[in-house]
Amino acid sequence: MTKVLLTGASGYIGKHVTLQLLNQGYEVRASVRNLSKSAEVIDAVSPHLVDNSNLDSRLTFVELDLEKDSGWSDALNGIDVLMHTASPFPIASPKDENELIRPAVDGTLRALKAAQSAGVRRVVLTSSVAAVYGIELPEGKTAFDETMWTDTSHPIGQQAYTKSKTLAERAAWDFIKNEAPSMALTTINPVLVLGAPLDNNFGSSISLIERVLKGKDPMLPDLRFSIVDVRDVAQMHVQAIKNDATKGERILASAGTMSFVDIAKYLNTIYPQSKIRSGQAPGFVIKALSLFDGDIKAILPMLGKAMVTSGAKATRILGISFIPVDVTLRESADYLIKNGFIKK
Ligand code: NAP
Repeated sequence: MTKVLLTGASGYIGKHVTLQLLNQGYEVRASVRNLSKSAEVIDAVSPHLVDNSNLDSRLTFVELDLEKDSGWSDALNGIDVLMHTASPFPIASPKDENELIRPAVDGTLRALKAAQSAGVRRVVLTSSVAAVYGIELPEGKTAFDETMWTDTSHPIGQQAYTKSKTLAERAAWDFIKNEAPSMALTTINPVLVLGAPLDNNFGSSISLIERVLKGKDPMLPDLRFSIVDVRDVAQMHVQAIKNDATKGERILASAGTMSFVDIAKYLNTIYPQSKIRSGQAPGFVIKALSLFDGDIKAILPMLGKAMVTSGAKATRILGISFIPVDVTLRESADYLIKNGFIKK
């Protein structure tokens, strides 16, 4: 049985990847920052397993911190595939960008070095569209694609999270090229990941839907989001290791693009009794607010931009037929409402 070391198994995406690996016959050594989180992962995936037998031997746990050396070499021992999803993904930017950059870059290198020493030949890294779209769209292009790289001096590329994912992915490709050419790397670069989580401990991305359903913003900024379903992202991680054509490739995970206002309008058609507000804020209002609010300032470089991202390579190489964005939005909202996150 192929053994996968999956870092970040306690994450929103990590739990979905754990589930799909187990359901497709892989043995998972799941890394968590603290072993107390292992019960959370088991509880999240168990109800969805096609076969619950021998789970103790098919899903085991190790404690690993991206910022600490301890445990990595034992964790990679006897492993066939490294799947590295762990990286900090906070809602708001920290004051010090190194709080994100250090664990993202050093953690990726720790994982890769330990994998190399253990003789692991196959690696899948969860990167992001953040490592792609921090540039002006080149002349003649209508969508961001895998040939593009974020420039960390561009206003989008300078943001802490964007920079952390760009530098981490760069470090991974450089490491493979210069230090470990016998290892094959694939990066999966998701856009905004939405869709029903497996439990109530989900990450930051669904907060966008929570925000809309709660009507938190009196008016919405002119932003467009490329969106992908968490099940497709997990599926791409698993398909990547089955498919030699993905070796050495970056693959964007993107189902489609929608404006913030259209997301709100669409959710309002499903939940007309909710507090959803879907008016668009004029650009000058957002610019004025950005003088007082760092999080609003961070969105200025994206204001009014099309931000279209191509998922064509995923379809071509992996045969992914993306779940439509409206289904993903509806299921995200349904989850939040059914689980009491939105008060009437
Ligand atoms: P998440 O739920 O916050 O998961 C992040 C995972 O990373 C958690 O398991 C977390 O562990 C772990 N982690 C963070 N810092 C760590 C550290 N210092 N040491 C060890 N583990 C650490 O976020 P997610 O949305 O699932 O994101 C997973 C991956 O997908 C990340 O690499 C993220 O950049 C990428 N991604 C996400 C999106 C999106 O829209 N969600 C889009 C593109 C790319 P704890 O549970 O202990 O905190």
